[in-house]
Amino acid sequence: MLSDDSSPYDVIVVGGGHAGAEAAAAAARYGARTALVTHRRDTLGAMSCNPAIGGLGKGHLVREVDALDGLMARVADRAGIQFRLLNRRKGPAVRGPRTQADRKLYARAMQAFLADIPNLAIIEGEVADLTVIDGRVAGAVLKDGRAVPGRAVVLTTGTFLRGLIHIGEVTIPAGRIGEGPAMGLSTTLDRHGFALGRLKTGTPPRLDGRTIDWHGIDKQAADDDPVPFSTLTARITTPQIECGITRTSQAAHDLIRANLHRSAMYSGGITSRGPRYCPSIEDKVVRFGDRDGHQIFLEPEGLDDVTVYPNGISTSLPEEVQASIVRLLPGCTRAVILRPGYAIEYDYVDPRELDPTLQTRRIRGLFLAGQINGTTGYEEAAGQGLVAGLNAARLAGAVELAVFDRAESYLGVMIDDLVTHGVSEPYRMFTSRSEYRLSLRVDNADERLTGRGLALGCISPVRAAHDATRRAALDDTRRMLESVSLTPTEAQRHGITLNRDGIRRSAFQLLSYPEITWDQLAVVWPQLRDVPPALADRLCTDATYAVYLDRQRADIAAFRRDEAMVLPALLDYGTIAGLSNELRLKLDTVRPVTLGQAARIEGVTPAALTLLAAHARRRP
Ligand code: FAD
Repeated sequence: MLSDDSSPYDVIVVGGGHAGAEAAAAAARYGARTALVTHRRDTLGAMSCNPAIGGLGKGHLVREVDALDGLMARVADRAGIQFRLLNRRKGPAVRGPRTQADRKLYARAMQAFLADIPNLAIIEGEVADLTVIDGRVAGAVLKDGRAVPGRAVVLTTGTFLRGLIHIGEVTIPAGRIGEGPAMGLSTTLDRHGFALGRLKTGTPPRLDGRTIDWHGIDKQAADDDPVPFSTLTARITTPQIECGITRTSQAAHDLIRANLHRSAMYSGGITSRGPRYCPSIEDKVVRFGDRDGHQIFLEPEGLDDVTVYPNGISTSLPEEVQASIVRLLPGCTRAVILRPGYAIEYDYVDPRELDPTLQTRRIRGLFLAGQINGTTGYEEAAGQGLVAGLNAARLAGAVELAVFDRAESYLGVMIDDLVTHGVSEPYRMFTSRSEYRLSLRVDNADERLTGRGLALGCISPVRAAHDATRRAALDDTRRMLESVSLTPTEAQRHGITLNRDGIRRSAFQLLSYPEITWDQLAVVWPQLRDVPPALADRLCTDATYAVYLDRQRADIAAFRRDEAMVLPALLDYGTIAGLSNELRLKLDTVRPVTLGQAARIEGVTPAALTLLAAHARRRP
């Protein structure tokens, strides 16, 4: 379906995966007339690999997408069948909410959200080319010849660009199993001079759960109190399930070693790099050969689905070898493979081709998001999709584009890492990537970003109203905690022991002591009993981190000073005397937007920064 009046769309999003769904939804929320062009409507919201959302670092991204009114968190809340808070025993800054998802419920919920968006048209088809006029994108051309005119285009093609599947010695051109690759767009990007590379990723075989002996293996249960991803979800109502835990054995490792020459990765069939943090079972055996076994989680793919995802044995070995390996896993001696594991190679674009707005420098109005930028993971894709879709809509409306910085969000960390350093392997998020992680917590994503989102125009009225209520409750309760206090002597009378220093401490300060609990203080100040538990938890965390956050504020102020020093877009590094040729080349590849970004490029010396500073203009 084309627009009835065939006038250009404001934004065309190419690809309906996790990046594309968020891009289309964000552009439409902004008010842009948006088209989402994707191969198949029924694969919107499809999870190509692991049916799970969130995890360490990734959970932060999901909460940030939610804070900017994206869809992923609400969809995961509807589809989650095993919610678990990872790192529960560690500090709140590094906890990771995660859920296994019912694959069908996830896709259905995503499709329902997208169908509900009024100014979004969904067009089935493959985009094979782009219309570019005077260096600016003017629309997309479909494989069947249809033209879709548009002011801005977001490419979110995932693993589909020249996708090639490997199963042992067999290769199949495909975007993922059972779906054809996208060939045309790679040629377009090549023609326009984009730096393309090849990356790879892999997935395990899927097992028939009816053939697994569940009684003979350990189980992992969901949390008793599943915590939703979205601040708009009151509670999780989807039934929660257990998954099984098994292990590879020495016998399985021997079998893998004996067949390494038949694995696409080790026979030379694939030379591109895969995700280091999500290695194949072949990689694990080669790299960590001294281990006697690797844990495998047997995760059901849905409530009414017999398919089981054996998390931890991604492989590109031949199908019959996969079957033999599976049968060596305790609990799986009779297990039947429903679909073999495979590896896939695909094209990605060097993300240093992008501004921090995710717009390409080569073609104005063209934005890239998701796996095409060299990342891996649904959450990384969703976060970039949201930013690219919002910025595409702002560009179509001739409004200044938004940049999210490292001090306010993991979204900012990820985008800055990508556009500054590029990638040499699929990029995934970790909390360790953030230097300000005490400030960037999962529990305060809404506080960090919803106000920003409102100013940028991507927050719907429902969330805006919800956020205003939540913020008022937070501020009121915090004020109340700061307005009541105890001296050490008064505290002692309530059984609370403090240093006998005579200093009066507010309830908020008292909460920063790990041994003092909310319930203890509620005995002193009964009004605390009326505070909802989630709000109380949130304030306890704020209190715990208050002293560190004060220190971090100074670092953030210094960071922002350098980020405010904007380098001229057309700066000719060749004319700056004193820069080495190597540095000139690096600076020209990245084209840093600010002095701060220039400082983060490997090899940029303090002397070079002094030279660049002379060219920087301070933004007001
Ligand atoms: P995708 O989810 O791939 O979606 C792309 C969409 O674009 C599809 O709907 C496709 O139909 C559409 N499309 C593509 N080209 C065109 C075109 N020209 N015209 C119209 N529509 C088009 N992630 C991990 O974190 N860990 C893993 O271990 C892992 N393993 C994976 C294993 C496999 C085999 C695969 C396929 C993926 C794996 N992933 C893994 C990656 C994860 O699936 C992706 O990171 C995530 O789905 C990327 O989202 P995306 O929106 O960028 O692309």
